Amino acid sequence: MLPAFGIHRISHVGLRVSDLDRARWFYIDLLGFVKVERSGDEIYLKGVEEIQHHSLVLRKGSIPGLSYIGFRVSRPEDLDRAREYYRSLGMPTIKFKEKGVDEAIAVEDPYGFPLVFYYDMEQIGDLGLKYNLYRGAPPVRLSHVNISLPVRDLDQALKYYIDDLGFILTEYFLGEDGSKHAAWVTSYYKHDSHDLALGKTIGANPGPGLHHVAYVVYEFRDMVRIADILASSGLWDSIERGPGRHSATRAFYFYIRDLDGIRVELFTGDYVILDPDRWKSIVWRFDQARYRSDFWGRPIPDRWKEIKPVESIVMSGMKPLEGYSSMMPTIRW
Ligand code: FE
Repeated sequence: MLPAFGIHRISHVGLRVSDLDRARWFYIDLLGFVKVERSGDEIYLKGVEEIQHHSLVLRKGSIPGLSYIGFRVSRPEDLDRAREYYRSLGMPTIKFKEKGVDEAIAVEDPYGFPLVFYYDMEQIGDLGLKYNLYRGAPPVRLSHVNISLPVRDLDQALKYYIDDLGFILTEYFLGEDGSKHAAWVTSYYKHDSHDLALGKTIGANPGPGLHHVAYVVYEFRDMVRIADILASSGLWDSIERGPGRHSATRAFYFYIRDLDGIRVELFTGDYVILDPDRWKSIVWRFDQARYRSDFWGRPIPDRWKEIKPVESIVMSGMKPLEGYSSMMPTIRW
């Protein structure tokens, strides 16, 4: 089955932050993101290995959370195909512009997530061998975004991601009831462990939620360096979970919180799928939950359940989010 339009890869993320100057300090001075430019109420950033104009946009907002997730489409004509596809679902797209991208479309997708699609972004070059300019970790490139879908049935949602958008299901985790509770999907081009991690929002009035944004770092030691930098800055509460190693994705992880409580993961060592068309999804049973989440590592803290709201393109402003998400709400050890 051919996807409705071609998605090249996940490309960038927009976050709403309450104070741009504080966010600049956290992301640039402490973590080591490359500052590209500041424009009004937005700061454009990227990792040291990214050639494109930006992979992270910090946008001032009264409620912190996810502003949008950006994807590069495979060919220019895929923008029209995307427009047609979402129109056929009754979800009109709007024109979208940002620094470095003149032509893009934005849509609120069937699960309430603001998505931006573009083909052309300005290329400004990476830091290359300019190691003298590296600081913080540094973040290398965007790895993935972990989102919580307001659904009971993740299988239904996976039809959208896999059949319609063309992602590959790399791994999934079964809940106690035998249904899928979490899934990892990757694009054919990027074909590492995942572009998106998909969980479920649990709560009285569940909405779409952001769990975390993840950046690749070169090595495990870079996570320890960030832990040292956060502690030296008095930001002990920003250190949330890890470092450790996941079994799912096989990568090392370290989860921190920015000054608005938005969760950022530093991530390294996942696999690459050499033959995406031959990949057999890895299944994790419920009784493997702990092993799946932590090949080794300390128990998951309670605040791991917390998620951040998601911006509405249709309504403008953040969608209300009551209740909490957990990838595995029933698992405790
Ligand atoms: Fe992650």
